[in-house]
Parts: sequence; structure tokens; C-alpha cells
Amino acid sequence: MDLAGLVFASGKSGGFIAGADIKEFDGFDDAERLSDSLRQVHGMFDRIESLPYTTVALIDGFCLGGGLELALCFDARVATERAKLGFPEVKLGIFPGFGGTGRSVALSGGVQAMPAMLTGKNYNARAARRIGWVDQVVSTPDRMRWRAIKMIQRGAPKRKLSLIQRAEKITPIRRFIVNKMRQQTQAKANPEHYPAPFALIDLYEEHGGNPKAMRQAEIDRFPPLMLSTAAASLRRVFFLSEEMKAGAAKLDPMTRVHVIGAGVMGGDIAAWCAFSGYQVTLQDMTSDAVEGALKRAHKMFAKRLKKQPAINNAKARLIADPQGQGIAQADVIIEAVVERLDVKQRLFADLEAQAKSTAVLATNTSSIELEQIAEGMGDPSQLVGIHFFNPVAQLPLVEIVQSKHTDQAMVQKARSLVVAIRKFPLVVKSSPGFLVNRVLGPYMFGALKRLDEGGNTPELAAELDAAAVRFGMPMGPIELVDTVGLDVCAAVAKTLGLSDGEGSHLAKLIDQGHLGRKTGKGFYTWTDGKLSRSLPPGDLALGRELIGPLVDTAQACVDEGIVESADLADAGVIMGTGFAPFLGGPLNARRLEQA
Ligand code: NAD
Repeated sequence: MDLAGLVFASGKSGGFIAGADIKEFDGFDDAERLSDSLRQVHGMFDRIESLPYTTVALIDGFCLGGGLELALCFDARVATERAKLGFPEVKLGIFPGFGGTGRSVALSGGVQAMPAMLTGKNYNARAARRIGWVDQVVSTPDRMRWRAIKMIQRGAPKRKLSLIQRAEKITPIRRFIVNKMRQQTQAKANPEHYPAPFALIDLYEEHGGNPKAMRQAEIDRFPPLMLSTAAASLRRVFFLSEEMKAGAAKLDPMTRVHVIGAGVMGGDIAAWCAFSGYQVTLQDMTSDAVEGALKRAHKMFAKRLKKQPAINNAKARLIADPQGQGIAQADVIIEAVVERLDVKQRLFADLEAQAKSTAVLATNTSSIELEQIAEGMGDPSQLVGIHFFNPVAQLPLVEIVQSKHTDQAMVQKARSLVVAIRKFPLVVKSSPGFLVNRVLGPYMFGALKRLDEGGNTPELAAELDAAAVRFGMPMGPIELVDTVGLDVCAAVAKTLGLSDGEGSHLAKLIDQGHLGRKTGKGFYTWTDGKLSRSLPPGDLALGRELIGPLVDTAQACVDEGIVESADLADAGVIMGTGFAPFLGGPLNARRLEQA
């Protein structure tokens, strides 16, 4: 029988292939065996590509990693508007290994395909069409087949190489492009820590003029990356982040959130909940605070949601409520007022009388023990901590704090809310600093002590920062103190019982009103919220020394039962502090060091 064409679609609704089963990656420990497995897949994909009739892949929902590599073997692709395509491999310390490097370069050119693989970001269907991954976009899944049949009748659309694509084949021109890519990638990642994007750039530099050779070379270049400790650590971080969300019940979409305190934190927490689809009422003592928070929120909605109907809907979900009328209907109430025990005690005693008995009563306190806040309450079991980090929109971790009285149902509801707003919940016990501030305290104050002892010179500050960055921290401890705010750091230190020593530079700067980035001056001078300096090369041994107290404290938190397990401590510290993901967390890093 003569076949006219082949249409390939997923039997699942709302998904094509979301990528490989990452658990299987841990099963490989031998480069040869891995290369053999890759060769088999390459053979199968090559056969699909060379089928003698028109082949069309239908993409609805996620088409990621190996799924996209498969889709690129077809002559054409039809996608629904809700399709999401991308190569997330680099986030796991690897690059596409089923021929995706060469095939995406052949289709889109390196100038477009390489950034997609280097950033790992997802493309919606229209963006994917612009770079040639998708040929046609349809509004609903039922229209895909019809388009595919038309394509088979008329033949797959022919693609012409663009001028840039033709130019890329010329080695000196490609070299020029590659140098730029290397510079841009180096600004974001250290090749010592994250070799995958740089190995991909090398592959393109050598073989970008011949995509078939690029595909072939993948087979040898891929295994060392996949078998590296960096890739294993990044997979570990991925699994742990999934574990943090595991078991959380789905939050009722009708859940009402009430936020009290419309300052830096409360305003942003309310905005983020409304942005995530929940009805939010926002209360403060002053109407100026609420107005300011709404303005900030509207800006955030416009930036992130882009389309006017979605922006308007989010605006409508966030309601100014100076009188606290939302309290009686709220399912979750989050308090983010000033950090004063007497104020919080009074507030929760009042709330208890007005709120539903099933409502989660949450505090965003960073330092006050929940048991103390609950002293004025008749029934302290409703009180839980939902501790967000600043800036709320950017930081993925939220600590869920339980006191010895907290009802587990409240903890579970709080987890559900946090997962529903696309953050990662970490359950911790109520104790000074919880996990994240507790581990950061000794790290920052250890560095400040060295800085004091060394005469507080800008050169020494930069040397300390560079050492921590070389170790793999997103920024050094002195820059972190300036970013968080010197006053906030001093308050955290007080909670933790850490001393900054007599006559410290920290105390002096605070006295002078220099609080760091927010006032334009701290240990560094900031211009428009930015530091203009370049770090010297960092000393790894010094970096390890600086990090030591952080690792010791993470271990203490596990030993004291503040977090449930060493794995969750690692996940929490990575998400709460940006600790070197390629080392898989502080406790994993220590294990690796000792191995
Ligand atoms: P903020 O000073 O910016 O805002 C506090 C707001 O609460 C003000 O608008 C004030 O008018 C209002 N307020 C005070 N008492 C009130 C009351 N009784 N009823 C209603 N509104 C009242 O403070 P912030 O930095 O947003 O901190 C709020 C809470 O979040 C604190 O508990 C703090 O420890 C915690 N926190 C802060 C950060 C941070 O980096 N700023 C991070 C995590 C947690």
C-alpha cells in the first residue's frame, strides 16, 4: 500500500512529550554505554526524518527536550496556541543529545537556535513559529489534523535559508557570532561550574557549518556532561524541588486571601496572590500604604501579563480594604505589619474573634517566635508562619513555620496556597531565623568580621565577595549585606544572638544612616541601585572558608529538627539563598568534598 503521509500526535490531551524521564538519567554511569544508547535513538530519529512521504507532528501542550528533538525530525509541525516548546536540557547540566543541536540549527540557524538551547527557555507556539520550529499555529487541537492532511496533500512547506543562516556556514563569520555568545554566557555562568552551555558553543563553533556533523558529534560530547557531578547535582535540585511541592492538595480556586500590612512585603504578597488568580483584599492602617501597594501591583501586572484583559482581571482581583471587611470571608489571612511583638499579639487576638474558624491565620514575621505571637490567642492552633522573602516576585522559596501548637491542617493549607501561587514551600519549626536567615547569619557576619579585622578596605570587601562567587554563590556576602539592608542584617543578627563586635563598621554605618543599596551607600556605594565594580579573580580556598559556617549551620538545623531532612535543607538553602545549585546544596557539597 502506498502511504501518502504520516501524522504523529500524542494520545494524551494537552501534552505532546514533556521530555525524558529524568530519573532514568541516574541509571547511567558509563560513557560508552550512554553513547550506544544515544546512537540507537539517533538511528531511529534519522529513519523518521528520511521517510519517503510527508510527515507532520501535531503539538498540543508541552513539547520539551527529547519531545522537541523528536518533533524536529518531521517534515512539518502544526501546534496549538497553548503549545510550549523548548530545550530545558542546559538547566540539568547537559545539552540536547538526540540530534536536537544539529536539527535545531539546521532549521532556525544558530543565531536563533543557540540562544534557545543556551537559556533553556520555553517558546509559545507563535514564538516557535517565528524561529521555524512550528509551521502552522491553530487555535484548538481539533483543527490540527485537518491542517496536517492539507499539508500532506500539498507537500510540506519548503523552507529557504535566510541570509544569516547562509552566512553562519562561513567559519570566520560563525567565529564572530560564537565569541559574542561566549561573552554573553560567561556573564551569566562560570564555565568551571556549568560546563554544558560552553560545550554546546564549542560544538556549534566546530560543526555549525554542517548540522549533520554537529548531530553526530553530540554522541561523543554528551556523555561526559551527563555523567558529571554538576549534572547529577542539578538533577538532585530538580527532584528536591518536586519533593517540596509533593502531596500538596490542590487549592480551591475560590480561595479568598486577606493581607494585613501593605508595606514592602504585604503589598507584594497581595499582588503576587492576585497575579496568581486569587481574590485578595488588602488592609493597612494608612490608605497611602494601600494606594502605593496597588500602584506597584498594577505595574507588575502590566509587565508580566502584557494583555489588557488579563491585566484588568488581575487588577479587579486585588481590592483595597482599609476597614478589613474581607477578614470574615477570608480563607487565608496573612499578616505583614511591623515587626513588633505587641502589635502582632494584639492583631491576632482580634483576628481570631473575626475570622472563620477554618481560616489559616498566618504571620510573615522573620524573627518573632510563633508561640509568643500566639500568647494572646484563645486557640493558637490556627496560627502558622508563611514567610516570604524579599523581593516576593523573584524569590521562589516560602518557609511555612509551625509552632508547637499549629494544627497540621493549617500547615497543609498553607502549603497548598504556596504551591498554587507557584512558589516552593519548606516546612520549618518556629525557631530563631528559621532555616534561611539562620544559615545566612553566621555566613554574613563571619565575612563582616574578616572585613573589620582587615581594616574595612574596598579591596578586601571585593576580595571576600569574589571568593564567595568563585565558590558558586550568586553574590558575595558583603554585597548581600548591602542588598538586604544593614539594619535588617543587624536585626537578624540580634535574633540569632550573633554579635558584630564592639565599634563594628556595620554599627557605624547604621548610625550614619548608610543602610546599603536602599540608601545608596553601605559597605559599597550604589548608583541607581547598581554597583559599578568588577570583581578580582576569586580565591576558591577562601570561598570555602567563608561558606563553612553556612554549611555547619545547615547541618545544625537538620540535627535540631528545624527541617525534616538534609535533602530538604539543601533545597531550602538553594532556593532561599541561591547557594551553588551545581553543588546540589550545602550538605551535598560537603559530602562531595569529603568523597
Ligand atoms: P513595612 O514597614 O514596609 O510595612 C509594614 C506595614 O504595616 C506599613 O504599611 C504599616 O502602615 C502597616 N501596619 C503597621 N501596623 C499595622 C496594623 N496594626 N494594622 C494594619 N497595618 C499596619 O514592613 P515590611 O518590610 O513589609 O515587613 C512586614 C513584615 O514582614 C515584618 O514582620 C517583617 O519582619 C517581615 N519580613 C520582612 C522582610 C523584608 O525584607 N522587608 C522579609 C521577610 C519578612
